[in-house]
Amino acid sequence: MSKENNNKVMIMLPGEQVASIEEFEGGKNTYLTQDGTIRSAAIGTKAMDLKRRVIKIEPKNAPMLPKIGDILVGYVEMIFASMISVKVLYINGVESTSGFSAIASMRVGGGGRDRRERPIFRTGDIIRGRVMSLLNSTVHMTIAEREFGVLYTTCFMCGGDTVKVNDTVKCIECGAWEPRKLTNDYGKETLRQIFRAGGSR
Ligand SMILES: [Zn+2]
Repeated sequence: MSKENNNKVMIMLPGEQVASIEEFEGGKNTYLTQDGTIRSAAIGTKAMDLKRRVIKIEPKNAPMLPKIGDILVGYVEMIFASMISVKVLYINGVESTSGFSAIASMRVGGGGRDRRERPIFRTGDIIRGRVMSLLNSTVHMTIAEREFGVLYTTCFMCGGDTVKVNDTVKCIECGAWEPRKLTNDYGKETLRQIFRAGGSR
């Protein structure tokens, strides 16, 4: 894959090839297949004992994946018919590097009885939500409550800074506005605080 990925610690999934039997002996959390391949029996990272030529998998007991009730912050990467996919950057205020995504329903009610008033989402919107289920290994989050929804976004017309005006987001540069499902603390300053507290960038 890309160069960037090579520098990161590789996470092995169950069934993935860890090594061949010519190179290593399979240790903890591995199994041997008939063709002489050592495969991972857990989610974790490779650990090699070069002296004994044993390779094992150090299990990751999922501190990197969220639990129900966790607060997630990320950005909209994809928009489907009625769902958004959010690339998660922070779990409970701590930066997450595991690169998973959560999905949320765009049917958040609130705003309008009128269909046309339904809030809009755009890729790149910064979203805050809470994990409500982990069904089928998919992280589902809700953005329906007051403190959830779009936390910050730039103007869809000119890329300018925006402010919250009732249930709309308004550009302070060009004046363009859109109905959105916004958090009660919407704004650039909130985003800045999350970045600062999360300890990165
Ligand atoms: Zn604008």
